[in-house]
Amino acid sequence: MDFATGWAHILGMDRDYDVIIAGGGLNGPALALALAQGGLRVLVVDARPASARASEGFDGRAYALALASQRLLSALGVWPAVAALAQPILGIRTSDGVPPEGAAPFLLGFDHGELDEGAMGFMVEDRHLYAAFLAVLEAAPGVTLRSGDSVVGQRVDGAQVTVALASGQVLRAALLVGCDGRTSGVAQRAGIRRHGWGYGQTALVGAIRPEHPHQGLAHQVFLPEGPLAILPLRGGLASIVWSESEANARTIAAMGDEEYRVLLESRIGHLTGHLDLAGPRFSYPLTLTLADRYAAPRIALVGDAAHGVHPIAGQGLNLGLRDVAALAEVLAEARARGEDIGAVDVLERYQLWRRFDSTVLALGMDAVNRLFSNTNPFLRAVRGLGMRAVAAMPGPRRSFIREAAGLSGTLPKLLSGQRL
Ligand SMILES: Cc1cc2nc3c(=O)[nH]c(=O)nc-3n(C[C@H](O)[C@H](O)[C@H](O)COP(=O)(O)OP(=O)(O)OC[C@H]3O[C@@H](n4cnc5c(N)ncnc54)[C@H](O)[C@@H]3O)c2cc1C
Repeated sequence: MDFATGWAHILGMDRDYDVIIAGGGLNGPALALALAQGGLRVLVVDARPASARASEGFDGRAYALALASQRLLSALGVWPAVAALAQPILGIRTSDGVPPEGAAPFLLGFDHGELDEGAMGFMVEDRHLYAAFLAVLEAAPGVTLRSGDSVVGQRVDGAQVTVALASGQVLRAALLVGCDGRTSGVAQRAGIRRHGWGYGQTALVGAIRPEHPHQGLAHQVFLPEGPLAILPLRGGLASIVWSESEANARTIAAMGDEEYRVLLESRIGHLTGHLDLAGPRFSYPLTLTLADRYAAPRIALVGDAAHGVHPIAGQGLNLGLRDVAALAEVLAEARARGEDIGAVDVLERYQLWRRFDSTVLALGMDAVNRLFSNTNPFLRAVRGLGMRAVAAMPGPRRSFIREAAGLSGTLPKLLSGQRL
């Protein structure tokens, strides 16, 4: 290395990008847009070809976006492209049920009128959200998307991280962020270990057309084998996330459509009336997986790469978007102060902000799932009492609603709808 090249290397002037993001699911694109707002040059590498994903029909995946996540999407300029396709969540109803009787009367219910901010959140289909991200990403200055290619190697040396792609290209940046999902290769290569366990449950996911209009209500029915969520979608449809023990789920998944429809109707028909299936059915095995650390030198983890949680409260993507907002704010502030954005002490600030919150929520969801996924009469009595107590007390009610809307805790700017 000659003298000039040596200085360029030390000062980071020979970097191709400020930040390389491995993974273009939803958190990767969100982070890229947030970082570009902060003036950083960003590359997103996604293994799945964007054209294939954007042209897919309804694949059963839909997200309950908390109000705070919707504000982040507004601040990133994504919300206008998806707003007309999003269903406002106007209320939440939870009930306890044992088949074959179906659900008991509602144990706990909340309405958007109890919150000053309007709807409690929004239901959005994955395909619409991804298409909106793609449109904004392609027009965003400072962001490059390379889809159909993968990050296959990384090496950290002093002032930069060198990233190898499957296509053979080698690129340099100040920071590599793993948004590459629950089996994050970025985390593995950085020596970050994961902890977790399988729930012995599988989520059966799909859409239905209920006879009774959903009126914007999201239902959570707690059945002994696992929770069953009915989530309102646009066009009079509803998304079903039906968690069952692995053995039951295998049997149910193997049923023909009519047999499946009749079984589902026996579980939730008192809420939906007659129901028709409205699209293909999918199965997702459920696991909890938590990364030991969210940061290492020149490496950060975001979204499912950092924490994969049970979908019982529809919080997975919402948690990831909280990471996005926090990391983008930490890096924008670091850059404004002239700090190195890949330095351990900078990334430590991000980890401190997010790790405790995500772990508490992940373990909370785990506890709720365990408490409700059984027929023990004592536990049924305790949970019934607990929910009725929350229902009767204004303080806990308000905390619960603000938590569900993602409005509790120290919010990064983007989650309050402010640009960076
Ligand atoms: C049944 C079910 C229902 C859910 N419902 C909700 C809900 O209502 N609300 C909610 O907030 N969350 C929900 N979630 C959770 C939500 O789906 C996830 O938290 C979210 O999609 C994670 O996004 P991500 O971008 O972090 O990871 P992923 O979506 O897993 O994306 C990872 C991306 O990285 C790419 N990739 C992997 N390796 C590489 C590599 N080496 N190089 C380049 N690219 C790579 C992959 O191709 C992929 O595109 C649900 C989950 C399930 C299973």
